[in-house]
Amino acid sequence: MISRREFYINGAWVQPSVPRDCPVIDPSTEDACAMISLGSEADTNAAVAAAKAAFPAWAATPPAERRRHVEGILAQYEKRAEEMARAISLEMGAPIDMSRDSQAPCLPWHLKNFLTAFDQIEWIKPLGPHAPDDRIALEPIGVVGLITPWNWPMNQVTLKVIPALLAGCTCILKPSEESPLSSMLFAEFCHDAGVPPGVFNLINGDGPGVGSQLSAHPDVEMISFTGSTRAGRAISVAAAQTLKRVTLELGGKGANLIFADADARAVERGVRHLMNNSGQSCNAPSRMLVERPYYDRAVEIAAEVASSIKVGPASEPGKHIGPVVNKRQWEQIQGYIQKGIDEGARLVAGGLGLPEGMNKGFYVRPTVFADVTPGMTIEKEEIFGPVLSIIPFETEEDAVRIANDTPYGLTNYVQSQDGARRNRLARVLKSGMVEMNGRSRAAGSPFGGVKASGRAREGGHWGIEEFLEVKAISGWDSSVDIAAE
Ligand code: NAD
Repeated sequence: MISRREFYINGAWVQPSVPRDCPVIDPSTEDACAMISLGSEADTNAAVAAAKAAFPAWAATPPAERRRHVEGILAQYEKRAEEMARAISLEMGAPIDMSRDSQAPCLPWHLKNFLTAFDQIEWIKPLGPHAPDDRIALEPIGVVGLITPWNWPMNQVTLKVIPALLAGCTCILKPSEESPLSSMLFAEFCHDAGVPPGVFNLINGDGPGVGSQLSAHPDVEMISFTGSTRAGRAISVAAAQTLKRVTLELGGKGANLIFADADARAVERGVRHLMNNSGQSCNAPSRMLVERPYYDRAVEIAAEVASSIKVGPASEPGKHIGPVVNKRQWEQIQGYIQKGIDEGARLVAGGLGLPEGMNKGFYVRPTVFADVTPGMTIEKEEIFGPVLSIIPFETEEDAVRIANDTPYGLTNYVQSQDGARRNRLARVLKSGMVEMNGRSRAAGSPFGGVKASGRAREGGHWGIEEFLEVKAISGWDSSVDIAAE
């Protein structure tokens, strides 16, 4: 078994102040695959102190120097991408091919997009021609705490650490205790890239421990969090006393509006999108809303596609889906499937229990419910598993009402050949993102939601600006600027 009990603080791997072993469970086998430690208050304080001490020098580095360090992290990834794919696959159950093709490559993808956005930032600029002696300066907010979930581990770590470093912040990463191995590898990338001591720190820990300690810490200026709406609320409360900035990326219950004029692949695409990563994506299109004339056919296609999706161990190559992350999640999903049956939805694929022939591992059968009605538990709550709800609708207004009648607002989807309708819907759906006809957002686009999905924007220049303060300066001596040029 892998032993990774140390934390990365002030440029070195250090032992926890108090031993608190925590096994990492391989969800494909239910066996412990690694042992880590959960941090204590003394570890949190040490990491925050290191980040605080490193901040003035890091904040003062020329942007080009921070860029060079981030390029160094990319170079390390390029040497060790396979190790990263394997770590993710082992800790959270993404099948190895999917981990190589989608999970691990989130790191270079976001990192490169951030560099493009970074190059366009004007760190100090005039307010406008009406105020020649005014300047607007962008400055790093300070020490930041970064708390991430397990479902797309490197996606979320990269979306936080890279912009924080580029902005000139120093940070403490607390990855999910379910998926710490990829983040520890990431820490090695930072170390080997020569990121100065204290600029990037990592402590493992749980929510009530290190997560709460970071959230309440007086020397942490900001928490950037991705995870459940429940934890987002707890962090906001813990952070309130110190009035720190809190940015939240939370859950979702995306609606996928399929009109009768949708392209022939729309239903299949929707099912596969939801089932990808075993349904464990906050932006999963988990509610498929289908226009009545196309409804029966759509249910048929969805059932066929879901029944054809194979489930298997993360270590095996192939296009199957893997297990869900842990026993608690597996049990919760089973509970939702039971609720769907009890509340009268029509089960057309999958269902309760382990897939046929399996007796170990947190595997869930790709499940589809038809005739789901607004207000049923499976229509309202985020399941975070491979369970699709199909809901018929009569009119466009109906569809919008059902789609928006949720506490969440992360991504909604529209499938229709009618461009005017698509554009209209894109403006009335209440979500941070709307993706239509299978087109995903381009490089540099912001990721984030509204309402209970949180209100952060990650990626592109928005993702860097979250780590910056805006300073307004008057009485600036413009002649000095000119002399310096
Ligand atoms: P979680 O909220 O339990 O855990 C996420 C992280 O928060 C972990 O590191 C955990 O240790 C920490 N944490 C938990 N309680 C905390 C507390 N009280 N204070 C501080 N930190 C705390 O969520 P999860 O089960 O790991 O992830 C699944 C959830 O995350 C889903 O609801 C999903 O929709 C959401 N999610 C959202 C996005 C997004 O970008 N909007 C992305 C991925 C996942």
